[in-house]
Amino acid sequence: PEVARLVASRVLDVPDFPQPGVVFKDLMPLFADGKAFREVTDGIVAYHGRESFDVVVGIEARGFVVAAAVAYAAGVGVVPVRKAGKLPRPAHSVSYALEYGEATLEVHEDAFTAGHRVLVVDDVLATGGTAEATLDLVERAGGTVTGFTVLLELAFLGARKRLAPRPVHALLTV
Ligand code: 5GP
Repeated sequence: PEVARLVASRVLDVPDFPQPGVVFKDLMPLFADGKAFREVTDGIVAYHGRESFDVVVGIEARGFVVAAAVAYAAGVGVVPVRKAGKLPRPAHSVSYALEYGEATLEVHEDAFTAGHRVLVVDDVLATGGTAEATLDLVERAGGTVTGFTVLLELAFLGARKRLAPRPVHALLTV
């Protein structure tokens, strides 16, 4: 469809970033193009339906860009999921394994009121570790995940299987 082609045309492959052998998908050209960014944002809201979520969660840091735009378009608020140590008040934490070592994500304990329907967004879905931790975190904090959307899914890493049965919506899958 239209938005998939739009994303495909605004992503740059950066070899050997952040380490040798990795091809990093850079979506900054999409964010920088006002018309494309708006179409992608509106596409996410339209896919889920404006009335289907009460708040948008963005995953640090590029997810914040997407989350803020989607929330504004839908007339709802944003809750940030942040890396360890960044949030000022009591927070829930979830740690998950990286290829080397571990990462921790956090969300404020009072981020959601019970039954809040949460749309989670991020820029790229790779192994799914970040998404899995975020979805767990939202539910631990009392939110109900009703949608998860990424701009770009790297299918060969198998995140969809890892996250099953939770639905994954990607504007573009490669
Ligand atoms: P995962 O946990 O699925 O392996 O990695 C996804 C997280 O790392 C996302 O928050 C995403 O922003 C970041 N990430 C991983 N690979 C890439 C990539 O190639 N491009 C971009 N833009 N982000 C990536």
